[in-house]
Amino acid sequence: MSPTWVYRFDQIDEAQESVDGDWDRVRGLLGGKGANLGEMTRLGIPVPPGFTVTAAACNEYSSRKGTLPDEVWTQVVDAMHATEAQTGRVFGDPSNPLLVACRSGAKFSMPGMMDTVLDIGLNDEVVEGMIRATGNEHFVLDSYRRLIQMFGSVVLDINDEHFERVLTAARERAGVVEDSALTVDDLTAVIDDFKAVVLRRSKAPFPTDPHEQLNASIRAVFESWDGKRAHDYRQAAGIAHDLGTGVNIVAMVFGNYGDDSATGVAMSRNATTGQPGLEGDFLINAQGEDVVAGIRQTRPISELSDVMPEIGAQFAQIAQRLESHYSDMQDMEFTVEQGKLWLLQTRDGKRTAQAAVQIAVDLVAEGVIDVTEAVRRITPAHIESLLHPQFDEPSIREATKIATGLNVSPGAAVGQIAFDPDLAVRWAEEGRTVILVRPETRPDDVHGMLASVGILTSSGGRTSHAALVARQFGRPAVVGASELHINLSSRIVAVGNRQFVEGDWMSIDGGTGSVFAGKVETCEPDLDDPALATLLGWADEIRTLGVRANADEGSDAVRARRLGAEGIGLCRTEHMFFGTDRLPVMQRMITAPTAVERNAAIGELLPFQRHDFAELFRAMDGQPVVIRLLDPPLHEFLPSRDELQMQITDLQLRLRSAPNLETMTSLLEQLDATTTLLAQVDSRRESNPMLGLRGVRLGMQYPEITRIQARAIFEAAAEVAGEGIDARPEVMVPLVCDAAELATQRAVIEGEAAAVMAERDIELPVIIGTMIEVPRAALVAEEIAAHADFFSFGTNDLTQTTFGMSRDDAETSFLSDYLTTGVFEVNPFATLDPKGVGRLIDIALKSARTLTPDLVAGVCGEHGGDPASIALCHDYGLTYVSCSPFRIPVARLAAAHAELAARESADA
Ligand code: PEP
Ligand code: MG
Repeated sequence: MSPTWVYRFDQIDEAQESVDGDWDRVRGLLGGKGANLGEMTRLGIPVPPGFTVTAAACNEYSSRKGTLPDEVWTQVVDAMHATEAQTGRVFGDPSNPLLVACRSGAKFSMPGMMDTVLDIGLNDEVVEGMIRATGNEHFVLDSYRRLIQMFGSVVLDINDEHFERVLTAARERAGVVEDSALTVDDLTAVIDDFKAVVLRRSKAPFPTDPHEQLNASIRAVFESWDGKRAHDYRQAAGIAHDLGTGVNIVAMVFGNYGDDSATGVAMSRNATTGQPGLEGDFLINAQGEDVVAGIRQTRPISELSDVMPEIGAQFAQIAQRLESHYSDMQDMEFTVEQGKLWLLQTRDGKRTAQAAVQIAVDLVAEGVIDVTEAVRRITPAHIESLLHPQFDEPSIREATKIATGLNVSPGAAVGQIAFDPDLAVRWAEEGRTVILVRPETRPDDVHGMLASVGILTSSGGRTSHAALVARQFGRPAVVGASELHINLSSRIVAVGNRQFVEGDWMSIDGGTGSVFAGKVETCEPDLDDPALATLLGWADEIRTLGVRANADEGSDAVRARRLGAEGIGLCRTEHMFFGTDRLPVMQRMITAPTAVERNAAIGELLPFQRHDFAELFRAMDGQPVVIRLLDPPLHEFLPSRDELQMQITDLQLRLRSAPNLETMTSLLEQLDATTTLLAQVDSRRESNPMLGLRGVRLGMQYPEITRIQARAIFEAAAEVAGEGIDARPEVMVPLVCDAAELATQRAVIEGEAAAVMAERDIELPVIIGTMIEVPRAALVAEEIAAHADFFSFGTNDLTQTTFGMSRDDAETSFLSDYLTTGVFEVNPFATLDPKGVGRLIDIALKSARTLTPDLVAGVCGEHGGDPASIALCHDYGLTYVSCSPFRIPVARLAAAHAELAARESADA
């Protein structure tokens, strides 16, 4: 028996049985749209009769290089007969014709990416018959011209511009603005011209056989799965390329039958803010594509009940029912044909990050989902987009607002205007920030939308293509800003009496819908949103992995704690030495010819350090603060060789023309000092500083550097203890490769801590740990652990030293080639490499914990804020991850997801 390639909507039970009842696999088989049309049919919700050709048939079509298997077609024809019986109409019968729509529908929705053909089944005879039957010549001719146009562009691949040109000419001849105002005679002329376009462009007449139209449309939808724009979209959205798409053949229902007909799109909750209540648009006497294309001015769904009270109430009730059935916000398409409501689609609605969080929290409060499910539904990308910058209030007040549109995707975006998507991509590649400005967007524009920081359109509604795509990819967007007059040929946007050309700066606020001239200053986002706080609180209850911050200053530490950090996992002390008041002292310390002079400089640095550490302890009262000893090579604190060389040349020139002895003496002194400094710099030159005198090796060479830092740490702790602060310093030694290094440094630190405690007559915790940043340290971790109270994996260096690749050099040269050619799948400096670096972490941790089973161990490299790496850290059994303050909310959620994934695999 040949496989079942076709399921009618009323055969959803059979489809589900064929995949052992697994709904996810039903969605894979029928596509999301087909599965839900079947499900709605099963629920008794009014759905026009029809059937789905499976995604498996699409894959079969691709593997047979574009040949539709005979069995597929036979099953389609059978299902058409059933649809005829259900509707009481006959496909191709002029006296009582059935028309169908052919709609794509993959497992995951890809708005507008694949093709749709409506009104299949019309030809000259059927048109005549339908006019006789309906008495509505205008409606039938309008449907016919739509079929020829869609079939021409989608199936025959004729550029839609040719059809649009005919329509524009017809409107101009008739002196009307909208297509719907064209008369029967105008439409007849348009149809003739459309047929001529088809004949001229495709070298064949428009096919009059309805079955031929259907067959070609199904094949065109299958082909569109492999089309470039669908491919690009899947790439960006992380959808697998081998899923294939279903094709849904649905009996046509007409929203353009007259004033008792309508069509619309609505979400069961607000997709921008997440607030409860229907949100969407509809049009009286129109077809669905008119709403989505954003060409006609739509009406808000709240007005549906004013025009059609019963339909409005029925739709609201169905929306509610679908939402509770799917336990999620629904995005629905509907049509009203002569007073009867039909649902054409439902799916989980795309939403902004803000709405995602709000809806998840509300659904828990409503008892629809539990806390775990709410946390599961929020992605790290959602949290990231909530961390988008916002416009700074004072700057907004001063900014020139030029227009207002719909606030469809929040966030502030500032960029240069580009009117076409290819230019947006080119400019983005040149490092420019771009706002894509278009009358409306189409699926072909997606690459440009992705390359832009914001999207602005002059037409279209909340469910327009621009709004959907922007929301999905977290791009701030304002749509339907009708005050903007965009002239694509002269590349000018006019608003009021102002004009902007391509390349001019504009700012848009996707949260309010405001459009501003020029650049408006942005600031940090508001993270005190109660729904977000609730959701992250739930994530905290789930996760077992700790989250600390990499913070070097008091203000960073305060922010980190507000964002949920449970301490500081890495304070890079060298950042404290770069301040203009400190650098000269630091340079004096480095260049000191004798120990006495070095100690004097060190003594000057002490108060600075003590002050900075005290700030950190205050911010983190009661939480651990890991302070790493000085790490980089000392030459980083000295001026560059080239700079000194230039100064010397300059001084020599000035010396030659010195006007008097006094100047000459001063110049000579400067020359002498600069030459000495150059010699110092030269003496510290290393051919490979990354592997040279840095990290613990500095402290080994100059124990006084370790001692001063230890003193600053413990004196600061003693100082704040006097203020009632519970300071919990942890001293961390970097770049250790052997246990003896740590043992030596430990003795220095303990000695200094004891001295401070004795001087101040205070007891302080002395916790000393080490970073594991080189492969040898990982391999001898058990020996090192004997001297360590904690480990922290410095995965930046561990990645460099494991791969033998300098991060700075790799990222600016060959690494991008590795990534584009697929030698590396991901950048190992961004996402932890499980095979090499991860394996070393695993080995180190297991062996160290044979000695110290509860050894605290964290990760403090960049990977600590990357969700995929956080999942690995959880699996290795690390105690915490440490990341920059702004990544903390992402890390909290990712850590909860890691725990949920672990629970799931334990259950499986
Ligand atoms: C590391 O190497 O991962 C680390 C945190 O140290 P740094 O980035 O300062 O070298
Ligand atoms: Mg390091």
